[in-house]
Amino acid sequence: SPSGLYRLPVRCFALRSSTPVRAMASHIVGYPRMGPKRELKFALESFWDGKSSAEELQKVAADLRASIWKQMADAGIRYIPSNTFSYYDQVLDTTAMLGAVPARYGWNGGEIGFDTYFSMARGNASVPAMEMTKWFDTNYHYIVPELGPEVKFSYASHKVVEEYKEAKSLGVDTVPVLVGPVSYLLLSKPAKGVEKSYPLLSLVEKILPIYKDVVADLKAAGASWIQFDEPTLVMDLTSHQLQAFTHAYAELELDLSGLDVLIETYFADVSAEAYRTLTSLKGVAGFGFDLVRGTKALDLIKGGFPSGKYLFAGVVDGRNIWANDLASSLTTLQSLGGVIGRDKVVVSTSCSLLHTAVDLANETKLDKEIKSWLAFAAQKIVEVNALAKALAGQKDEAFFSANAVAQASRKSSPRVTNEAVQKAAAALRGSDHRRPTNVSARLEAQYKKSNLPILPTTTIGSFPQTIELRKVRREYKANRISEDDYVKAIEEEISKVVKLQEELDIDVLVHGEPERNDMVEYFGEQLSGFAITLNGWVQSYGSRCVKPPIIYGDVSRPKAMTVFWSSMAQSMTNRPMKGMLTGPVTILNWSFVRNDQPRFETCYQIALAIKDEVEDLEKAGVTVIQIDEAALREGLPLRKSEQAFYLDWAVHSFRITNCGVQDTTQIHTHMCYSNFNDIIHSIINMDADVITIENSRSDEKLLSVFREGVKYGAGIGPGIYDIHSPRIPSIEEIADRINKMLAVLESNILWVNPDCGLKTRKYAEVKPALSNMVAAAKLLRAQL
Ligand code: GLN
Ligand code: ZN
Repeated sequence: SPSGLYRLPVRCFALRSSTPVRAMASHIVGYPRMGPKRELKFALESFWDGKSSAEELQKVAADLRASIWKQMADAGIRYIPSNTFSYYDQVLDTTAMLGAVPARYGWNGGEIGFDTYFSMARGNASVPAMEMTKWFDTNYHYIVPELGPEVKFSYASHKVVEEYKEAKSLGVDTVPVLVGPVSYLLLSKPAKGVEKSYPLLSLVEKILPIYKDVVADLKAAGASWIQFDEPTLVMDLTSHQLQAFTHAYAELELDLSGLDVLIETYFADVSAEAYRTLTSLKGVAGFGFDLVRGTKALDLIKGGFPSGKYLFAGVVDGRNIWANDLASSLTTLQSLGGVIGRDKVVVSTSCSLLHTAVDLANETKLDKEIKSWLAFAAQKIVEVNALAKALAGQKDEAFFSANAVAQASRKSSPRVTNEAVQKAAAALRGSDHRRPTNVSARLEAQYKKSNLPILPTTTIGSFPQTIELRKVRREYKANRISEDDYVKAIEEEISKVVKLQEELDIDVLVHGEPERNDMVEYFGEQLSGFAITLNGWVQSYGSRCVKPPIIYGDVSRPKAMTVFWSSMAQSMTNRPMKGMLTGPVTILNWSFVRNDQPRFETCYQIALAIKDEVEDLEKAGVTVIQIDEAALREGLPLRKSEQAFYLDWAVHSFRITNCGVQDTTQIHTHMCYSNFNDIIHSIINMDADVITIENSRSDEKLLSVFREGVKYGAGIGPGIYDIHSPRIPSIEEIADRINKMLAVLESNILWVNPDCGLKTRKYAEVKPALSNMVAAAKLLRAQL
């Protein structure tokens, strides 16, 4: 069978189920919604495009839910979640449940339907969408609730009860999952017009009555357990915030609800203080902890756990794709059982499986040995159940020994270890890597050499990716066109993009990235130590998914990756052409990373590979090199106490990539966000010559952080217009923005560029927008 050994235990369970088996204490925090082949994505997009009906979308969704519930039931999972499905986002679902629809969407009460729901998520012809932001330190994004004293809360979506009933009618008794009331408030922001300092937590009195109604409805529908996700408990919380949990859960009167309540935490350890608060909550029967990322949780539990309560032990990693080390997990579980009683330990996932890939069974092209090391969501369910059975004394020896063989093969496989790389990376630690000359002097030398005007214009890298272009890449990958034809097609595309930029009179050009489908996968395909999946998609936001490469071994660069295309592009123009690379931290943060060595070690290895590429580009005559670090901030640990260490090795890794170039080689970096007030010193410490950032949706004041306390001498290009929208900004509008920036930043360091890459835009939008951008820059140059 394609899924190999993972099929085995399911069958065993089915065989044995004729004799009564003690229900195993197994639990899944949540499950991916997109489907094994992104079925939900395609159904959503077709519905949004008006190509299919609401009923068709609902049918796809119901089929996905049914198959997930059945899969878990067949695997023997005892506590199966419901309401972890969402048409867009679980936080938005909670906003709908509470009727907290911002007034601008013109909702008039009643049950919230697709119209209002998707308008909040995506905007509509007249109203923009609600803000979206990263879900903790994942690449998932949630829709930020907008709250204030004016919001009239009402019970406006019965989705959680409907999903519970739907599962029940299919014969599956589930644990309905809700975003807990305190996390919901802590993750929200004051609505427009509401003071920034408004105490959002005070709204708890208004939302608790709705939560109470929901709990009562679930009880009436037959639920016996209910799960509240309170992941904010892993953050650095003030005692006031912690008290909000005590207060809210007391007010909910869960002890009177007749239900068993589980509170889930995930993504990191809870602090000792949060642990005390959590385990003292009234009316709660079980507590869930992330035992993969949370390294201190075990000690806290062993130091004292409320008697008679259940521990949901998250030992199976929901954030990664590695097969669990079952023997080691079982040891952990048994020792926990020794402390709190074996019948009180429920085997679980570290967090929702939303953050991992869906099903390994669809990876038909993956190397067999590597595949034996992996477990996606569908396989993790089987692992959870196998551990639960083993803990209950019914260990499936065959399954465990197959797992042990795979673990051993991963430890000893020569494809994992590359001694030379290990040595080189180890030598980097503790040392410093910096360009010898300071940035202001470098920048001056660079401007002189390339004769750049003041307020130089550039773009971030990619140009529109047309359907034809995607087709060429696809055909080449499938061996349907020859390498020669492929090179010709890409060359033509590059030449078109170069000509366009010359016509537009842009100063520093890009080749447009037509050969890349994704800024991380492109490098993953070429580096050793990486594997690429066919269907390893993970939801990023709404219908958007990403497909992170898998880093399974020591990373090295067998040969140059971008020099061919970049030097070809440079040869087409006399203007400087940016070499375009993805930085080590971003490659790391947007991949599934090995768990058998610390993240920084893997990052240093990638940095060395990128360093070689940078130096090869320089040798080939490329004098401007952009090293994107779009995801540097995303990897910032949730807890303050761990942030300095991360920033230290992340910034060090970036500097390693370019510490060896000449003063006159200009290093750019790009970041897809602008709120780095808290990490500004690290950004400066990256020591790039020019940094372009996303800024068009925030105000210029943010830029003043670059001047606060530190004299920042490097070039800075705050995105001058929003590439996420099809809108074409006028010359006046752009000039106005540049002027506002000039009020904060020196003219000799300001660059003029869009927000981010132009990949998702159409030429009809890009041409006039860039033309206006250049015109605005020229207008201001004349005035300076
Ligand atoms: N160079 C990349 C591009 O332009 C950067 C993308 C990103 O920052 N997400 O597409
Ligand atoms: Zn970007």
